[in-house]
Amino acid sequence: MADSDVASMCANLTLVDVDDDDVAVQLPIAPEDQAEVEGAYYAVGRLVTNKTIRLPLFHDTMAAVWRPVMGVNMRELEPRKYLFRFYHEKDVTRIIEQGPWTFERSLLIMKMVPPGQDPASVPLTHVEFWVQIHALTSGFRSETVVTTIGSFLGACIKTDERNFDGTIRKFYRVQVPIDVAKPIRKQMNLKRDNSGWVLIDFKYERLPTFCFLCGIIGHGDKFCHKYLTTDDGAEKPYRAWLRAGNRRGVTGNGKPWILLESTSERLKWNAATFDSLSSARPTGGGGGRG
Ligand SMILES: [Zn+2]
Repeated sequence: MADSDVASMCANLTLVDVDDDDVAVQLPIAPEDQAEVEGAYYAVGRLVTNKTIRLPLFHDTMAAVWRPVMGVNMRELEPRKYLFRFYHEKDVTRIIEQGPWTFERSLLIMKMVPPGQDPASVPLTHVEFWVQIHALTSGFRSETVVTTIGSFLGACIKTDERNFDGTIRKFYRVQVPIDVAKPIRKQMNLKRDNSGWVLIDFKYERLPTFCFLCGIIGHGDKFCHKYLTTDDGAEKPYRAWLRAGNRRGVTGNGKPWILLESTSERLKWNAATFDSLSSARPTGGGGGRG
């Protein structure tokens, strides 16, 4: 199918969200069997939540956020699991590359479906996050250490090429696959032969709703079984500081609140001070903060 043919089909249908005139979505009207043969690129996704999801709202919202040039269709394979059909390879590769995405603060795990593969066989257990490594002291600031830390977190997919470009960094970035069934890691200890232990902190970019009691992505603490047996006043093992600002907003020289969240700085603040600091943080957009 030529691009011009698809483009002409795209002109056939426009959906407009009734609540927002700015949200307009064009859907290509591709014949089912023809699209199966040529010009179709598939991805499969799972929303990590127990909430009930309405497909039309999910479809409209994600299409408006993704804005694929050639459009996207989707259908529900089972509750909270979807097959996405794109009409240009660059659309689907860009959208997956720019993830992870959220819908109503719930994480969407999204993977390409290789040609000829059953979508049901594509594992949807891990999602690739950019993790920031904070409080890494001198002597540990090297590509090898960052890569090793990535492996500790699961696997090092890649590191940020700007980590060691000569600029003094407040944190270093590594992309890792995170198993969403397990608690996210908050910190780790590092030691070199003759040195003492160094405690480093992790922050996750675009981290969606997660539980401050068990550290697992997909539910808030009031919906956790641990909530039932936890005293209301007890300190929660996980806190919002695990969430980095939107990755597009943290690539500069660092904002004051990033500095204040290293382990050493955090220990200097009592809870009341820290809470007031938290509420004053910028609320950068994107990434399902919640
Ligand atoms: Zn929980």
